[in-house]
Amino acid sequence: MPHFVYNLDGTSSRKCQCSVTPKTWLGHWERGTGLALPVKCVAKYCGNVTEVGAHVRDDDDKRIVWIVPFCQYHNKRPSSEPIELKDAVTLCGGSMTIDCA
Ligand SMILES: [Zn+2]
Ligand SMILES: [Zn+2]
Repeated sequence: MPHFVYNLDGTSSRKCQCSVTPKTWLGHWERGTGLALPVKCVAKYCGNVTEVGAHVRDDDDKRIVWIVPFCQYHNKRPSSEPIELKDAVTLCGGSMTIDCA
């Protein structure tokens, strides 16, 4: 089943509040999922190298902010544009108050 997410606007000022370095959203994703960072962007058909932890919302639950490893191209897609993810991508919660540890 296709899995779509949408970029969230206005998240560039959000900084990861985790107590360990690196305090980046990619580091946050690694810590939160316990997985190794994917080499390639998790957007379907994208072969670009992972560059940023992007703030997205899931089609299924629009209340929750999620982090996914994207390239800059996909991080910059407009929030109106659905982005299909590769199979079996793990999303990490991206709430600074709930998910940063
Ligand atoms: Zn990409
Ligand atoms: Zn964090």
